[in-house]
Amino acid sequence: MQKIYLDNAATTPIRQEVIDEMVTVMQSEFGNPSSTHSIGRSAKAVIETSRKAIAKCLHCNAQEIVFTSSATEATNWILRSAVRDFGAKRIITSKVEHHATLYTILALQSEFGVEVDYLNVDCDGVLDYQKLSALLAENTKTIVSLMHVNNETGVVNDINRIGAICHQNNALFHCDTVQSIGKTELDLQDLPIDFLVASAHKFHGPKGAGFAFVRKNLVLQPMIFGGEQEKGWRAGTESVHQIAGMSKALELSYEHLSEERNYISDLKDYCFKQLQKSFPAIEANGKDTFYNILNVLLPFSPEKTAMILFNLDIKGIAVSRGSACQSGSIKPSHVLAEMLSEENLSKPSLRISFSHYNTKEEIDYFVENLKSI
Ligand code: PLP
Repeated sequence: MQKIYLDNAATTPIRQEVIDEMVTVMQSEFGNPSSTHSIGRSAKAVIETSRKAIAKCLHCNAQEIVFTSSATEATNWILRSAVRDFGAKRIITSKVEHHATLYTILALQSEFGVEVDYLNVDCDGVLDYQKLSALLAENTKTIVSLMHVNNETGVVNDINRIGAICHQNNALFHCDTVQSIGKTELDLQDLPIDFLVASAHKFHGPKGAGFAFVRKNLVLQPMIFGGEQEKGWRAGTESVHQIAGMSKALELSYEHLSEERNYISDLKDYCFKQLQKSFPAIEANGKDTFYNILNVLLPFSPEKTAMILFNLDIKGIAVSRGSACQSGSIKPSHVLAEMLSEENLSKPSLRISFSHYNTKEEIDYFVENLKSI
């Protein structure tokens, strides 16, 4: 059966060149990067070359990139260290962040009694920037944690504006850029961001590899203790092939960015137009959304909600209801819950997310099958 993958915000297929690179590294660079002999030093060189390549893509220093197993790990580390070691007394975030952020903050709130303020979003998913300014005027030592692109709706936060507000008020800014890294230019020379987190599997790299950007002169304390890897910030023998694969994937993403962005933007427009033709009452959730994510409210009865993903799945079509972590759960999406009325929340919403591997024929097949439900 034909398999159609329209769930690229959950994870992306690995590029063949990335697989080739990882296989080469696994075959030829088995040394422990901490060993001082030439076999170890050679593996270490792979890591440092990868770090430089990633830094070049983001216009930062290689020393500012710290490898982790995932964005979730990087976010846990940064927020915990900000509270425990920088003495942040307050975290400002929003209810539409990924659970990697939200649940970390809840844990810090109960462990350290840190104050937490949530910014609202409106029915289009747009953040309340004025409240951010008002809260920061209060002069409490604060870290702000807000994402760039929302993984469920594709709504884009203005991270330049957020960073400027934070820095005018001496607050730190942690940004979850998991959905935007490799998909849009991020120039860390200019962007007023102190910490960002990324995950290789969202940009056609391997799972189990991520990184944090930690701006120079911000000294965090480790979350994991042990050896001297990653300047002692993140102990544990490095996964050399994963790191090499991640850097290759990021380099390729930026190399092909403009052509792939055009292609994917076109596909998204095409998909929405085809859906509108078949379901004139369909609505998009979120305004001015990122070019690879389309979240739609279907004019179907609430009873059909549970069936839709199942019916598409048996036809070989992978899309998502809310975020991947929630598929299979009967709870409504915590992101849409902040944006939609009770009535609309009970209706089915679908997240369709694209990559350059998708085609218009796949979209036609998807729309045809949706019509038959
Ligand atoms: N933040 C966002 C916006 C995400 O979409 C995801 C993955 O779904 C994560 C964080 C977590 O990333 P990872 O899979 O590397 O833990």
